[in-house]
Amino acid sequence: MKKLNMLYEGKAKKIFATDNPDHVIQEFKDDATAFDATKRGTIRGKSVVNNKISVRLFELLESKGVETHFIKLLSDTEMLVKKLAIVPVEVTIRNIVAGGMSKLLGIEEGLVLKAPVLEYHFKNDALHDPLINDYHIAALDIATKAELDIIQNRSFEINNILKHFFSERRLDLVDFKLEFGRHKGKILLGDEISPDTCRFWEQGTGRKMDKDRFRRDLGRIEETYEEMLNIVLNNK
Ligand code: 5GP
Repeated sequence: MKKLNMLYEGKAKKIFATDNPDHVIQEFKDDATAFDATKRGTIRGKSVVNNKISVRLFELLESKGVETHFIKLLSDTEMLVKKLAIVPVEVTIRNIVAGGMSKLLGIEEGLVLKAPVLEYHFKNDALHDPLINDYHIAALDIATKAELDIIQNRSFEINNILKHFFSERRLDLVDFKLEFGRHKGKILLGDEISPDTCRFWEQGTGRKMDKDRFRRDLGRIEETYEEMLNIVLNNK
């Protein structure tokens, strides 16, 4: 397998072509951005942490029957994945109120929701990833009803699996963001699952173990990412 030209560079990752047109390499960067890239920085070692955490969680999900784009780990910062046509929607699942939901509804962070909340956000930084619903998605032909059913069911299933995995490690999975894409007629989970895309609060102390340390200038950013990698790789 050969690494060929770069196809796309995002805020936290680069995508490279390979000699197989169905496979691409996802390479993680140490670059960190927040608030639609108006805040920028570097988190040393983040690329390795996010790559390895994502691999562990994709393997976990695959073992439970959730189909993902993951094929194999290639290096500290790279994984081989199936090439997806990304559905331009970010799916957010929330178990505890924080961040955007707290701001949107004026509810204090920390309220434990009676049931998980699923939100769709249209992927567009210039518009701050606006909240949309399933009617927008159907009417604008962003995804079919059948695709959206799969995306919704999978997202809740992923939430159950991840909530359990992290609670065994004494962390509350507060919320997270998923992206899905099409590959050979199937909907697969894509992107990454990492401290950049999830909120984790340490049980008992409420210590933030995710990108909010960068967003909110809480310090000990690199150390916390390293700690999260150890927690995830540790078999309890
Ligand atoms: P919120 O809507 O509260 O800002 O984010 C909810 C959850 O989804 C958080 O765990 C956050 O990390 C993740 N999330 C939402 N949008 C984005 C995004 O554009 N990039 C990344 N990395 N994570 C996001």
